[in-house]
Amino acid sequence: MRHIAIIGSGPAGCYLADQLLRLDPDSPIDVLERLPAPFGLVRYGVAPDHQGTKAIARVLDRVLSRAQVNFFGNVEVGRDVRLEELMRLYDAIVLATGATRDRKLGIQGEDLPGVIGSGAFTGWYNSHPDRRAPVAQGVRSAVIIGNGNVAIDVARILAKGAAELAGSDLSPEATAWQTTQPIETIHIVGRRGAADAKFTEHELAELGRLERARPVIVDPATLTGQSAVVETLRKFAAEENRKAPVTINFHFNLTPVAFLGDNDLRSVRCRRSDGNPLELPAQLAVTCIGYETVACCTVTPSNGVFPNEGGKVKEGLYVVGWAKRGPSGTIPTNRTEAQQVAQRVSQEVIGLERPGGSALRELLERRCVRWVDYAAWHRLDAAELARAGEGRCREKFTTVAGMLEAAQAH
Ligand code: NAP
Repeated sequence: MRHIAIIGSGPAGCYLADQLLRLDPDSPIDVLERLPAPFGLVRYGVAPDHQGTKAIARVLDRVLSRAQVNFFGNVEVGRDVRLEELMRLYDAIVLATGATRDRKLGIQGEDLPGVIGSGAFTGWYNSHPDRRAPVAQGVRSAVIIGNGNVAIDVARILAKGAAELAGSDLSPEATAWQTTQPIETIHIVGRRGAADAKFTEHELAELGRLERARPVIVDPATLTGQSAVVETLRKFAAEENRKAPVTINFHFNLTPVAFLGDNDLRSVRCRRSDGNPLELPAQLAVTCIGYETVACCTVTPSNGVFPNEGGKVKEGLYVVGWAKRGPSGTIPTNRTEAQQVAQRVSQEVIGLERPGGSALRELLERRCVRWVDYAAWHRLDAAELARAGEGRCREKFTTVAGMLEAAQAH
């Protein structure tokens, strides 16, 4: 029998647990999560108005519910237990810690209030306990940097009216902020051409169906090339006469060079491909340019990921998900990847009669760590569903203390 611990309970960690169990149904798997609630990006990254995508949490929950799987929520590796300690307790450790730090543009003014990374912004509107509200009020114009699906999520959440957000789990604080900003213009800025945009067609097309916003292509001549995304953008360009209180301006071949302002953000200075400058007024700028992995104790990332060879970092240590390959792919990408890494773990790792979860429990008890097991997570889940007000499917607790209390963690 092998004892395996997975650090991180997002889609990558849960799919890996599932695949390991398929290959070896008798070996226990412990899933450690630094927050009291599981599911990582599904809970705190996927947009709150995309409840269809968030429903994948039910599939992940079934994995955690299995008898051989033990959930240890509110256990942070590095704070409560060292990675090196875990490596002595388990036959193998798998890092599924994601990519939690926003990449930086590295340009002037990036630290101005009003400039925020997409991880911080999407985490905040998803009630992540560590994420704070953007320091921006009276937002008439917002600039979103990046041409990926996160940029689309951010634009949609900013553009939607209250009725369109009904049924979501957008946090009450974010709802209050969003509905009181006088937003008129949202600029989506891509440094390359339309054909190079990383939007997917389905996500992009949704921006054309919003009640109070209309997409505008600032320079239709930039719509060169052939792809489903370019076709969707051409359709937007053809419908430009539609009236709506909010415009979503798509700019291509436009590179941000500085955020300008004294105490608050005033504008984003950009450079066109012909070298000419363009200044976009903005009270809020959200950089949606990807994420990087942060160190886990002594294991440090390089170029935003943990260096690995086919998922193996070193003897007894593996990696999956965004921490392995960078912030790319959709949620099902993790399932395919988990099959490959699980095969590898299964072939390479031998059970050495290490103590696994029983020793971890003792260690956590000795250190007075209040961890959340699967039953406690379900108490927290039920409490969040029960307290959801009118027009909201869930109201998450926004502090770790509140989550632990609702979970009645020991
Ligand atoms: P992404 O798809 O990689 O897009 C990042 C964007 O940022 C690209 O347009 C990139 O431009 C730009 N960028 C990077 N560095 C830049 C810089 N220094 N200056 C200007 N622009 C820069 O990443 P994402 O939008 O964060 O999404 C992450 C992953 O999650 C993706 O796989 C995405 O599909 C997925 N996701 C899916 C959904 C969904 O299916 N509904 C929703 C959200 C996210 P270049 O191309 O020029 O590098």
